[in-house]
Formats: sequence, structure tokens, C-alpha cells
Amino acid sequence: MSVYCNIFGHRFEVSKKVTYHVSEYKCDNCSKELTTNSDGGLIELTPKFREINSILFRIYSKRQARQIRKELHKAYKISS
Ligand SMILES: [Zn+2]
Repeated sequence: MSVYCNIFGHRFEVSKKVTYHVSEYKCDNCSKELTTNSDGGLIELTPKFREINSILFRIYSKRQARQIRKELHKAYKISS
């Protein structure tokens, strides 16, 4: 942990949006990483959580793609 962070605290910014509820955060200053846990709190981004997040992200983006296809299908049916 850098001296700056020790005195002033971390400056976390979202580094990756995993799902609607889960994000990864990275400190601008010392590169410490956090993520959202299942209770909505923040925990350290360990390799295990990074793996869980990447799986979540894959599921989430697949689901979103399916939702978009469904919307397109509906729009097409209405217009034809
Ligand atoms: Zn920091």
C-alpha cells in the first residue's frame, strides 16, 4: 500500500463492469483491486473472485445478447 493511500485512503475507480450489480474497482494510486461480493459489499479481488467474475461476465453478456435478439425479433414481427 502506498504512503498516499495510507494517509488519504484509496481512490477506487470502476475498472470493469461485470454485471448490473457487480463491478471491479482499482485504486488509481496503488492498483489495489476490489470487487462487489454477493451481499453488495466490497472485498479484495483475489484470483478466485476474478475467475468467478469472468464466468459471471460471460453468462451476463450471453443473456444480454439473447435479450437483444428477442427484442429484435419482436420488433420485426410487429413491423411485418
Ligand atoms: Zn490505493
